[in-house]
Amino acid sequence: MYIPYGRQAIDENDIQAVVNVLKSDFLTTGPAIEQFEREVADYVGARYAVAVSNGTAALHAACFAADIKEGDEVITSPITFAASANCALYCGARPVFADIKKDTYNIDPQDIEKKITSRTKAIVAVHFTGQPCEMEAIHKIAEKHHLTVIEDAAHALGAEYKKQRIGGLSDLTTFSFHPVKHITTGEGGMILTNNEELYKKLILFRSHGITRNPQMMTRSEGGWYYQQLCLGYNYRITDFQCALGSSQFKKIDSFVNRRKELAARYDEAFRDCKNIITPYQHEDCNNSWHLYVIQVQNVERKKVYDFLQTAGIGVNVHYIPVYQHPYYQENGYQDVCCRNAEELYAHMISIPMYASLKNEEQDYVIRKVKEAVGEGYRD
Ligand SMILES: *Cc1c(COP(=O)(O)O)cnc(C)c1O
Repeated sequence: MYIPYGRQAIDENDIQAVVNVLKSDFLTTGPAIEQFEREVADYVGARYAVAVSNGTAALHAACFAADIKEGDEVITSPITFAASANCALYCGARPVFADIKKDTYNIDPQDIEKKITSRTKAIVAVHFTGQPCEMEAIHKIAEKHHLTVIEDAAHALGAEYKKQRIGGLSDLTTFSFHPVKHITTGEGGMILTNNEELYKKLILFRSHGITRNPQMMTRSEGGWYYQQLCLGYNYRITDFQCALGSSQFKKIDSFVNRRKELAARYDEAFRDCKNIITPYQHEDCNNSWHLYVIQVQNVERKKVYDFLQTAGIGVNVHYIPVYQHPYYQENGYQDVCCRNAEELYAHMISIPMYASLKNEEQDYVIRKVKEAVGEGYRD
């Protein structure tokens, strides 16, 4: 038996949805894409959605739409997947890391403010584990300093901040549909915005910067004519992926609810364990639980990790502070130190969290985790 930290839940309806598209006229650039975009936009309460090939492409597109360029700085959290910072580098800008808060593990608005310079152009707020950042404080800072807010919501589909769904609150929000995320398209991502100008840029960027829309072209030479207006990429997603996305999306509420149920069961199980710190929930936030991250005390994290792996439990560590990677160390980040991030990194471990995790499997994980930190009984 092997229990991973996260995995997809695919049923027969999902499979049939993909098969239907494979038998249809359009494998890509067809109707399934707009349908999936509409569904997600309506659910999160955003006006526009652009589906792309993956969550990293979504972040790159968001940075492009925000006009992030060489010489700019983009502030983000070190406790995230590298893509949240790399997207600034793709545009020639410099990622700047603001420390996290000790309780929520999300970026600290006070430290964002300290890191702002005349070059700062945007904030990439990462809703770590599915718990939204303090968006009110972040929006206030952004307004004061004329910054664009990009929410990296790869963990936060279905999460809420002050009773509002993540996805329609900022200039730009990105999702990922990698198999470990709430819903999957295999690989896939999406950018949400309420701003028509940004939307138009995203559409161009997704497909080479090319348009066939007569209203956007400087002239036309005939029906065959198209123009490249900016430098874009091929970040398109296929119709069969979007059909899978739409089919998965029908189950979003049950997926999120199951994750909440599992989180509550973990909270309860570890409540009296002095060697385990369970995740703190901010009162403004409704977490959609992409990850369940504990901190272990009085025992080496590596020992816990190895013990659980040996027991067939696919624990993981999310994340190594981004600036500690060799690439960043070799490119000017040797002196960066975010104390809270480093302290969290030393103790954190992600234990299995996914909608199809069974209670019996979770009970086994709980037993083994307690044993690993010296608070359990041997089988
Ligand atoms: C998964 C993830 C991404 C990247 O998404 P991909 O679809 O894998 O490219 C970006 N940011 C965070 C926080 C993620 O968890």
